[in-house]
Amino acid sequence: MTPIRRQYLEIKRRYPHAIVFFRLGDFYETFDDDAKLVARELEITLTSKPMGRGERVPLAGVPYHAVEGYLSRLIAKGYKVALCEQMSDPAASKGLVDRQVVRVVTPGTVLEPDLLDERANNYIVALAPALRRARHDGSSPFADPQATAGLAYADVSTGEFVAGEIAAGALAGELTRLRAAELLLPEGVAPPDGVDDTTVTPAPADWWLAEVAEAALRGHFAVASSEAFGLAGQASAVSAAGALLQYLRENQRASLQHITRLVSYRPEGFMLLDAATRRNLELFAGGRQASRRHSLLGVLDLTETAMGARLLARRLGQPLLARAAIESRLDQVQYVHGSAVRRGRAQELLDQMPDIERLVGRTVTGLASPRDLVGLRRGLELASASGGLRAIVAESDAPAAIEELASRLRPCDDVVAAIAQAIADDPGATLEHGNVVRAGFSQELDSLRTITRDTKRYLAELETAERARTGIKSLRIGYNRVFGYYIEVSKSNLEAVPNDYERRQTLVGGERYVTPQLKEYETRILTAGERIAEIEAQVFRQVCGQVAAASGQLLALAAAIAELDVAVALAETAARYGYARPELDDGDAIDIRDGRHAVVERTLAEGTPAAGVPSAFVPNDTALSNGEAQIAIITGPNMAGKSTYLRQVALIVLMAQAGSFVPAARARLGIVDRIFTRVGAQDDLASGQSTFLVEMLETANILHNATPRSLVILDEIGRGTSTYDGMAIARAVVEYLHNRPEVAAKTLFATHYHELVELANHLPRVRNENVAVADEDGRVVFLHKIVPGGADKSYGVHVAELAGLPKPVVQRAREVLAELEQRVDGHLPARRRPGGVPLEQLPLLPARPGLLDELAALDVDGITPLDALTKLYELRERARGEGR
Ligand code: ADP
Ligand code: MG
Repeated sequence: MTPIRRQYLEIKRRYPHAIVFFRLGDFYETFDDDAKLVARELEITLTSKPMGRGERVPLAGVPYHAVEGYLSRLIAKGYKVALCEQMSDPAASKGLVDRQVVRVVTPGTVLEPDLLDERANNYIVALAPALRRARHDGSSPFADPQATAGLAYADVSTGEFVAGEIAAGALAGELTRLRAAELLLPEGVAPPDGVDDTTVTPAPADWWLAEVAEAALRGHFAVASSEAFGLAGQASAVSAAGALLQYLRENQRASLQHITRLVSYRPEGFMLLDAATRRNLELFAGGRQASRRHSLLGVLDLTETAMGARLLARRLGQPLLARAAIESRLDQVQYVHGSAVRRGRAQELLDQMPDIERLVGRTVTGLASPRDLVGLRRGLELASASGGLRAIVAESDAPAAIEELASRLRPCDDVVAAIAQAIADDPGATLEHGNVVRAGFSQELDSLRTITRDTKRYLAELETAERARTGIKSLRIGYNRVFGYYIEVSKSNLEAVPNDYERRQTLVGGERYVTPQLKEYETRILTAGERIAEIEAQVFRQVCGQVAAASGQLLALAAAIAELDVAVALAETAARYGYARPELDDGDAIDIRDGRHAVVERTLAEGTPAAGVPSAFVPNDTALSNGEAQIAIITGPNMAGKSTYLRQVALIVLMAQAGSFVPAARARLGIVDRIFTRVGAQDDLASGQSTFLVEMLETANILHNATPRSLVILDEIGRGTSTYDGMAIARAVVEYLHNRPEVAAKTLFATHYHELVELANHLPRVRNENVAVADEDGRVVFLHKIVPGGADKSYGVHVAELAGLPKPVVQRAREVLAELEQRVDGHLPARRRPGGVPLEQLPLLPARPGLLDELAALDVDGITPLDALTKLYELRERARGEGR
């Protein structure tokens, strides 16, 4: 075994869960199984390398200068990569070069801009199991929903670090909210149900021990006790936070100086949203493609900065419960909303604002470029210079919430000055590209630069002087990489060469010489170059250090900028789309006039509407309250707009409590503690659960956890089972929500079981509503208007017809429907009705043996592409003909 092989194995042993990128000269090499994996995932060649007598090991490598691209592909696939660097210059060191892992790049700890979505936070989450847990049967310690678990999360790119305690049952919702890139768990501990375990990183269980975790936190924050973070008595929160910090330290190696505080998280302060509800409301991804564009965030995000975009996403994921805090956000929005001029000026400045949070993160961790520092300086100037952001909000008519914000837009003059004095306005892209330090900052540097800059002139002068001295007109001074500077004389002039010329190289047509003077000059230039690089690196590091030392102050400023950006953006959406300020109160009513669905409204306004669908959104009112209209049962045909209406109410409530204006003419809202949804019948194939089971699990969750202050959205319950089963369950659920005071939540229930309208006759707080439909010459026209009363007719077959189902199918469906309706309206289903065709024996649609046989007989391998296409056309035409 070669020494290098031994060194590699030793390092790999310490990073079993990561792919080790082992630096060998200009390449990062991977070996053994890592090499096979990397070759496969990155589609690069797998070779092998002799590493000892009779030993060849698999090898795959990537050039070091292109490493970011390869890294990003591996990280995106969920892998972790340990970067192992050469710690000394291989040319200068004798024997084996020292190598060390300088960083482990993982999905939750990346810092490179190319690997991050700039408008989204990148969270790594650590969980600490509940302390006293009864189970030792191998099931997840998070399985008991009432037990308390510790939750800590950090965004290393921005310095955010948060920890708290939370019921284990709420973990799935939290993990969905955070969209954790990586989940840290003690080795051997299974994640909570429903968590994708590809993101899980197991870590030494010791890190979670109370003393170890506590010591890690005390060490990093230099405090005497973890009580300083407001986590007194929250042992599992301390445990999770301490474990997370140790993991970051282990992987990051560089500084974590920008993690300046640990924020204590009290889930009681926020509207609790379970994982299903977060998805159902399409807060961050919506529509068929689950795109950002068709989500609530996509519509509301008119922020100008990446910091603002991330804050807005955090706020939508965590609506508030405290009225005062919500009002203060709304005050900010209203202030900016009130003046288009003010808004425009703020947007103009914010548009130029760089991502201060991530610039600070990169500076502290040693990944910043000189241009990053200049960007940071420009950003700081925009925030606080006269005429800057501060000036816009520091006006006399500002409400308290804006004054407070203005006071936090504090200038960071020291940092601005430190960067401005030392770093040039337009430095090289990297330290190696040079021109980093501003002229006038260092006398030594300036004179060294003069030397190198004057090279050309100096050499030209020397050449002229030597020509005069020797009388050789064709003498010239040149440079090559091997011999350095030389004087070249052609063959015919060799006898005129003076004695002090020293021969270096013989060419076909002449000789090359050096002189002591030229040699001395050469050394001066070379040393000047090296020294310049040295000084630039030193100054750059020093300024980075100054920035790092001020990171707390810089991040506070960044937070204030983000807050202003969000207020401006929400004011802009409100102005553009006609939103109103919600009126919040301590009552229990939800009273909305002319409410709209924020996202569907935009889609209709921007898209080309399908035939028959109006292009403008039809607004609707909502009136719910615990004492009177507690439950609204909404019936109506498919496609009428029931689901849209339900979600629009939930979104208006959620937007209001997140601090946004809402799409309505007017909205009076009592604060809601939780929103529950049970929407649609989606197959959860990935988790292997049947649709119906998922549906019932979600319903059970609602019935166990709803309170009178909750808002419950039930969109079709019982679809996944037989009609009678489904109807029975739906009815029982409504009765339960109505009759049990402890779960008597305000409820919107859309159903296609129009039999349920009858419930309003028995339950005093149930109201029937339906979506109005016009019947024009036998064609259904959806009016999308919610009106009182129950629908009595299902229009499913009409919709099928509109969708273009072949005529024979529609016709046949009408017959079957009539048959079924007779049976339900009459007595109990008769097995066999005299005179009618028994339902079990209803004939199928005519099959098409001719087509099928022909298809089956087709020699796919033998046919030419052109013939195949012709055949396909032919078959299609015939299929269409037969379908009519
Ligand atoms: P349902 O749940 O009753 O089947 P949806 O809520 O899914 O119906 O709505 C179907 C389509 O109707 C939506 O995609 C939207 O394009 C349109 N729609 C729904 N509500 C409205 C409305 N209030 N105004 C205009 N169009 C609407
Ligand atoms: Mg629906």
